[in-house]
Amino acid sequence: MSTFSFRVTHTDGAARRGVLTTAHGVVETPAFMPVGTQGAVKGVTHRDLESLGAEILLSNTYHLYLRPGDDLIARRGGLHRFIGWSRPILTDSGGYQVFSLAARRTIDESGAHFRSHLDGSAHLLTPEKATDIQSQLGSDVAMVLDECMAYPAERDVARTSMERTLRWARRARDRFLTLQGASGSARSSAADGVLVTNPCQAQFGIVQGSIFPELREESARRTVDIGFEAYAIGGLSVGEPIDVMHEIVGRTARCLPPDRPRYLMGTGTPDDLIEAVARGVDMFDCVLPTRNARNGQLFTSEGRINIKNAQYAEDDRPPDPACDCYTCRNFSRSYLRHLFLAGEMNAATLNTLHNLSFYLDTLRRIREAIAFGQFESFRVEYVRRRQ
Ligand SMILES: [Zn+2]
Repeated sequence: MSTFSFRVTHTDGAARRGVLTTAHGVVETPAFMPVGTQGAVKGVTHRDLESLGAEILLSNTYHLYLRPGDDLIARRGGLHRFIGWSRPILTDSGGYQVFSLAARRTIDESGAHFRSHLDGSAHLLTPEKATDIQSQLGSDVAMVLDECMAYPAERDVARTSMERTLRWARRARDRFLTLQGASGSARSSAADGVLVTNPCQAQFGIVQGSIFPELREESARRTVDIGFEAYAIGGLSVGEPIDVMHEIVGRTARCLPPDRPRYLMGTGTPDDLIEAVARGVDMFDCVLPTRNARNGQLFTSEGRINIKNAQYAEDDRPPDPACDCYTCRNFSRSYLRHLFLAGEMNAATLNTLHNLSFYLDTLRRIREAIAFGQFESFRVEYVRRRQ
């Protein structure tokens, strides 16, 4: 039934280049997924994203579940049709937002009890419920509900949490298989009233275990035993030292099947992406390029710049002379600073276009370097230019 597949086309050290195939098209990896929280990437249109070469979007289950609701989206034929995006979509489980946004949340074995940050209404997000919502949304990749732990955590606490995440993963997989089995060949059909708007949906498991290598290795092994289409590394970029993150990413990636994509959740800076690719990661998402753009921070080939700084008041250069995005081809730092200080909506749009272009172009160059067996020299040169 599933048309989901992944093929590694080139390797260079631990870095891999590959092609992810979904019912809504292919994604070249390593890939960066812009974050479209409410079914839109803030400040830019889908047309912009397509012209930037974005091949896959991430959307947030928590937000869409609360508003406008997954039932309403399912009745519109699923998320792709509702938001008018025909390329692949990955949805998160909603867990991270429950842990970070929702009010009065409590976690027990059943799931996460919380109150909506919008209207205070009470909800229970279980592993089954998170699977059902994503089935109704019809994303190409659904994520299991995992327990997001704060950093730092004691080893015993991390183990207890990891064990719960494994039990939740089993429940989420069972529910996913039931829904997919019930969907048959029809475009959509009901199982307990849940619509399967994308019968080709894949489900990724998530490895947890905080910063403890032996817990990460055990979590990876037992998550793979449950059996998912692919695997994500969760619970990093939560305040741990950068070298610890790199170490855990490397050790976890080595424990995951080489023929399945590996997704590092919620990370990070361009440097983090390069370091993670060097350790065998294939997929990324992060709010940094879009959120920072709205705050006036631009990623460039020579490091970050804050466009609001006075030093750019009469700077006629583009944000990044090495970039050929729409913003850099047409506008100066001086103008972008003016737009930002004036609170003009175009400031968010133009800054976001540049930052996303920078990220997507960095990934494009990474893929090229891997294909030519030059990833290591690319990595060294990248770091050198920014010092
Ligand atoms: Zn640019």
